[in-house]
Amino acid sequence: MLGSMQNWPLLCTKIIDHAALLHPHRTVTTRSVEGPIHTTTYAELRSRSLRVAKRLEKHGVKYGDRVATLAWNTWRHMEVWYGLLGLGAIYHTVNPRLFHDQIVWIVNDAEDRLLFVDLTFLPVIEKYIAEMPTLEQVIVLTDAEHMPATTLPNAVPYEEWLKDADDDFAWAEFDENTAAGLCYTSGTTGHPKGVLYSHRSNVIHAFQASQMDMFGCGSRDVIMPVVPMFHANCWSLAFTAPMVGAALVMPGAKLDGASVYEMLQIGKVTLTAAVPTVWQMLLGHMEAKKLKLDHLERVVIGGAACPRAMTEKFEKVYDVRVAHAWGMTETSPLGTICSIKPETAALDIEARLDLQVKQGVPPFGVEMKITDDRNVERPRDGRAFGRLKVRGPAIAGGYFKGMGKENFGEDGFFDTGDVATIDPNGYMQITDRAKDVIKSGGEWISTIDLENLAIAHPDVLEAAVIGVAHPKWDERPLLIIVPKPGRSPTREGILAYYEDKIAKWWMPDDVVFIEEIPHTATGKIQKMTLRDRFRGYVLPTA
Ligand code: AMP
Repeated sequence: MLGSMQNWPLLCTKIIDHAALLHPHRTVTTRSVEGPIHTTTYAELRSRSLRVAKRLEKHGVKYGDRVATLAWNTWRHMEVWYGLLGLGAIYHTVNPRLFHDQIVWIVNDAEDRLLFVDLTFLPVIEKYIAEMPTLEQVIVLTDAEHMPATTLPNAVPYEEWLKDADDDFAWAEFDENTAAGLCYTSGTTGHPKGVLYSHRSNVIHAFQASQMDMFGCGSRDVIMPVVPMFHANCWSLAFTAPMVGAALVMPGAKLDGASVYEMLQIGKVTLTAAVPTVWQMLLGHMEAKKLKLDHLERVVIGGAACPRAMTEKFEKVYDVRVAHAWGMTETSPLGTICSIKPETAALDIEARLDLQVKQGVPPFGVEMKITDDRNVERPRDGRAFGRLKVRGPAIAGGYFKGMGKENFGEDGFFDTGDVATIDPNGYMQITDRAKDVIKSGGEWISTIDLENLAIAHPDVLEAAVIGVAHPKWDERPLLIIVPKPGRSPTREGILAYYEDKIAKWWMPDDVVFIEEIPHTATGKIQKMTLRDRFRGYVLPTA
């Protein structure tokens, strides 16, 4: 027997309808790419999104079409998302930090019909356009006054393009499983793979994100996603904020410490989110200028491991609560957040900081397990390592055009490629990427643990650990360090720092100092490049 409740499809446009009706005056404040601060409201943003939808329809964009955006977090980028969503077309966020070949490859793979581009990236597109034959037109996210001369044949400024439509438009209605957004994830080998979100998965994910033990946000919050909209849906915030009626602050193109600080202060931001490198820059700026934060209450840190020292600084020096988060493009992206459960509420501050190194607990709707290489579940004892596998309504069930089938098991679980532990309280901790973990004499050594410890050393700016071939143990850890400017740490000093903090057999066999650690387009350490560079390195223990 079926229930007799209404079948109300979970469509993303219902989120902006809700915000415009119930929170019409709540603001969306942006540092525009042109420079000045721009302020709009949810009511206005919805009205302009309706115009975008009508204008797109006039161009001939239809249900299921893909349209690319190469853009920062701004109100215009949000309008384009909601406009596309209102037709059942698909926003395809392109990461501008990808390499030329990858950008061209993914636009062609997605068969994008239009491209919305920020001024910053116009020169890139001018160079690549000849290689992207599916693009019919480029719309530059600016007005006539700021439109530069361009070699693109029929490029138009967004504000001029939008003048051809009013907001007398009704969102299209369709099944909630309709595709909503497309975001490619770039592994270190092979072509990038597309993750195709649905309206249903986006809405469910936004509900999950807003929960008390996740972002715990509401209409009294001012939220600044520093994490870009091209990085896994800016962790749901373009949906979660309007869903709960929170005001938004969008940082635009400037993500350096001084600019982020300025937006946190002038926007009176209470909750913000980004990868550790962004917070490294902010903390560096605030320390150098002796600044404090007047409004910020919570910071979500994820995308890479958040070092204990970073959490400690936010909490002890700036009185800001840190929520360490784990997720992936394939998980919409929020998988876990390290919130404090009653079981851990009595911990003193030092023990709590230790706990917060863990990536935390999944919300309802993210099922999680760790397994060995034969898919046998490993114990939840906080010690056993295993491959992290997840399933749920906002987790990819396959990649665009059927790529990467080997990552999806018959039991419905997606193999994340991460290695993790899960403790008896349900706290998950990432110990490595499966391909980075060091296998020494049949035992596993976590490179992330070793890196986190190294970063806590006062002379260390950044650290990476890789496995180097060893005649007796197969692989042993090599610690690679970028010193802080003006500091000269020594090999002996660093190794002494590890004493008593790790098991003896985890001790790196050697330490090298370099000027810069290479990063991927999403800010992760490029371990493959480091492994190539140090291939054949002879350890003193070998
Ligand atoms: P992406 O799809 O680009 O967001 O990358 C996802 C990957 O980033 C995950 O599979 C992890 O390897 C890594 N990652 C994300 N969050 C964390 C975190 N808090 N700690 C350690 N690694 C993380």
